[in-house]
Amino acid sequence: VSFAHFGFDQDVMGTIIKAGYTEPSAIQKQAIPVALQGRDIIGVAKTGSGKTAAFVLPMLVHIMDQQELAYGDGPIGLIMAPTRELVGQIYAETKKFAKAYGLKVAAVYGGASKMAQFKQLRSSTVEILVATPGRLIDMIKMKATNLKRVSYLVLDEADRMFDLGFEPQVRSVCDNVRPDRQALLFSATFPRKVEYLAREVTENPIRISV
Ligand code: AMP
Repeated sequence: VSFAHFGFDQDVMGTIIKAGYTEPSAIQKQAIPVALQGRDIIGVAKTGSGKTAAFVLPMLVHIMDQQELAYGDGPIGLIMAPTRELVGQIYAETKKFAKAYGLKVAAVYGGASKMAQFKQLRSSTVEILVATPGRLIDMIKMKATNLKRVSYLVLDEADRMFDLGFEPQVRSVCDNVRPDRQALLFSATFPRKVEYLAREVTENPIRISV
């Protein structure tokens, strides 16, 4: 399987080539076709496996298919991750590919000025938001953003989000995203709490392990 097999258009293929990706990684080979079908995924994968592109590339296709893209505000693709560092990495990786369609990406995370992030979110409509759970809730409370348009939800490193005490925030966000969203949850480990969350947030998921 090569990237050409996934049926991405020339714009997306151009960004993949430009990123220097010649062959899809194991998780990309498994997850991309499933995510492109609109299916939910529960994935066992670590950072370094290429899982970011595995959930971001199908997210772009999903977003371009949404009628809401033309109106409304708030992200259509939402990615939650445990730490500022991981959010930064995902943001950088997502921006590389989002360029293909001119989609706007923003990142919000704890440990930095809320006001700067508030202003950035309010200044333009972003189609993709990468966030730590606590800061995301702060931004929603401040009315810098909202979850109304979210229809592609990614929980990355779910076990670490729980380890860091973000379970209530993660649950609150998931409960407030429309129920017919596509959901992808990745975790390196699946203690019982994470397994429960995975079952709650996904519907008829495909399980992928690399
Ligand atoms: P991730 O696991 O998503 O954090 O990705 C780990 C690193 O691998 C990042 O620097 C990516 O840019 C890179 N990467 C992801 N997929 C591929 C691929 N198919 N070919 C080459 N590099 C990749």
